[in-house]
Amino acid sequence: MYYTATPLPDELLSSWLIRSSILNGTDPLGFADGLWFNQRIWTKDLDRHLSTDQIMQLKKNTNLSFEQIENMTLEPIYKALVHPHTVNPKKSWEYIIPTGIRNRTATNGLHFCPMCLQEPNPYMKKQWRLSWNCICEKHHILLQLACSKCGHCFAPHLIAYTDTDFSRCQYCQSSLIRGKMIPVSKSVLNLQSFLNRTIKERQIPPHTYPIIDENAADLFATARGLMLFFRDLIHAKIFQPHAEYLFKEIGYHYEPVKREDDSRQLSIDALSSEKRHQLLDMVSHLLYFSLSDIVAILREADISKQLFMRSIKLHSPTLSHIANSLKERKRTANKEILRTYSDFQPRPKEEVELLMDEIRKYL
Ligand SMILES: [Zn+2]
Ligand SMILES: [Zn+2]
Repeated sequence: MYYTATPLPDELLSSWLIRSSILNGTDPLGFADGLWFNQRIWTKDLDRHLSTDQIMQLKKNTNLSFEQIENMTLEPIYKALVHPHTVNPKKSWEYIIPTGIRNRTATNGLHFCPMCLQEPNPYMKKQWRLSWNCICEKHHILLQLACSKCGHCFAPHLIAYTDTDFSRCQYCQSSLIRGKMIPVSKSVLNLQSFLNRTIKERQIPPHTYPIIDENAADLFATARGLMLFFRDLIHAKIFQPHAEYLFKEIGYHYEPVKREDDSRQLSIDALSSEKRHQLLDMVSHLLYFSLSDIVAILREADISKQLFMRSIKLHSPTLSHIANSLKERKRTANKEILRTYSDFQPRPKEEVELLMDEIRKYL
């Protein structure tokens, strides 16, 4: 039996493992090897999911209940947000920031708030892996992914038992606290907090947004769908004639984010916090209006039902209401077809994954 750290509010499993390893005078790699006998658990995304056997093994060696352990993983949140409940640990999960492990080095995944790491009892939060979170709700700054000096991803599990300070980069030892603090939009912070409250309370809390969804899964589909819509609005050629008018009407000033060239090919959950912040900013500008105003603005911008649904491919009462209130696409000239051809772009990864799922059923 090991000394057991008490899980803190919204604490991630990996964070708890790191704190417990410190408590037991060892390092996270050795501690996990002792618990799970050389399963090299840190090379997997242990924060998303542990198998029943892995949870039982941890339960046997600590004072925690099965439920306490499972609740530190992201799986219960994921299950509350997606409709088909087949949880496949090998696939990417919507709403969860992927770790993107390449040559044993993470290229994405756990973000951090440099100011939270400065607090007296720092720990890593589940929020920091959930893709609608791009802001620290306590310090109102953009979450960061990497060390601003050497560019390596935040990797607190690499601490040694001789030096357990994870507010320093584990690759170049410089302080993670000295990164630049990017200011954030208040309306994004409000939207993010609203989504987080929905997760916490397991139902949609009172709000002033023009949404007609009644459960968490539908609300998140609406938010995600609108993010996908705006991503295509700024990147896909077919939307170019509509974007300027739409932004003007919703009072949004669009400026491209640096280094976003391949952002259309990535899953929306894999985008940088800066890019996710930008898309959520557009969504929150749109959601400032009533549902009938939103429909009127989209109609004025000449966005048809088909164009609106082109990027979204998700369903919720709010999205369906908007789509069904828009005009049907006019079926006209060959010119349209030619333009579509020249506009050919590879499909986004997310879309390909969904299509592959359809195909896999028949393999
Ligand atoms: Zn913070
Ligand atoms: Zn570094």
